[in-house]
Amino acid sequence: MSPREPGFETRAIHLGQEPDPGTGAVVPPIHLATTYRQEGVGRSQGFEYSRSGNPSRRALEVQLAGLERASHGFAFASGLAGEDALLRALLRPGQRLVLPRDAYGGTFRLVDQVLAPTGVGYLTADLSRPQDLAQLLAPEVRLVWAETPSNPRLEVLDIGALAQAAHGAGALLVIDNTFATPYLQNPLELGADAVVHSSTKYLGGHSDVVGGFVATNLDWLAESLAFLQNATGAVPSPFDCYLVQRGVRTLALRMERHCANAARVADFLQQHPAVEQVNYPGLPSHPGHELARRQMRGFGGMVSFRHRGGEGAATEMVTLTRIFHLAESLGAVESLIELPARMTHASVAGSDLAVEADLVRLSVGLETAEDLLEDLDQALDR
Ligand SMILES: *Cc1c(COP(=O)(O)O)cnc(C)c1O
Repeated sequence: MSPREPGFETRAIHLGQEPDPGTGAVVPPIHLATTYRQEGVGRSQGFEYSRSGNPSRRALEVQLAGLERASHGFAFASGLAGEDALLRALLRPGQRLVLPRDAYGGTFRLVDQVLAPTGVGYLTADLSRPQDLAQLLAPEVRLVWAETPSNPRLEVLDIGALAQAAHGAGALLVIDNTFATPYLQNPLELGADAVVHSSTKYLGGHSDVVGGFVATNLDWLAESLAFLQNATGAVPSPFDCYLVQRGVRTLALRMERHCANAARVADFLQQHPAVEQVNYPGLPSHPGHELARRQMRGFGGMVSFRHRGGEGAATEMVTLTRIFHLAESLGAVESLIELPARMTHASVAGSDLAVEADLVRLSVGLETAEDLLEDLDQALDR
């Protein structure tokens, strides 16, 4: 009988985090050195220059790749730096990618304003119907990019079906797994070819570090990513790697509470007269609920809703909460509230990805659930 594999929590706490062999310190030290002494020319102990690689970044990459069930992982200075490397590795001028209707605004901006002028084309599609994808996938379409659950409408996409459709047309599938985290969903196991994360969000988890991560099981893609990570140099500092690694040690516990609190918030909002429509995959009324049950281990900590009073009321309401901070970003211990159309998704205004002006997005944090409900209640009632 083969030994049982360690569970998620054990891997999160131990992968890439052996006690320091020199001192026994149970927390690996942060390696600030920019360069590493060589025994002879070209004879290093595995590290030469810190941009190319260092023990702190390696430790984080081993930890996160293990959690995403990937053989290769690469840490970047931000989620967008990781996306940039991945897009450069996968697309040449003349080729195209498919973007979903609902995507992180910065991803759209990167493709539309940085990549497109270099000759890489894109089209947007409703990825909730993977069966329609085949007819869009002309030979020059090399890549399908998807987020699930999506930002900010919390749409759930069928990763397995998208992978099958993409692969059938000779394209690859990338999943932005920032909202779900590897605790709730492992896209590579469902057929995706690469996964990207903004580790600024749940992985770091405390609103104090910006970072990105890319994982894959494709050796050729890993080779290209390793080259680009070094050649373009958008690498995280050793201290930032430490902060993300520290956050990930408690990811499982945090996600359990994020999910529980978000479920309470979604239930509450659904019954509130000032709320028009609640987007949360955990609600049985959500169109992606059954799919999320199959594909995910929990429904996540993000909730969005439309305010019945329209844009004006929504704009006012997000300034009235006392515990939820009005701020961009998500995935940390403290609860945040924002208006996507004017904040996180301002860069998609006027495009196919534009979001409703009365949509409010919540990143439900780890505070006491009753306090969060009371806070939303007083802000909606004013
Ligand atoms: C924040 C975010 C990104 C970009 O990550 P940065 O770390 O801010 O560069 C990408 N995708 C999603 C879903 C995000 O929320």
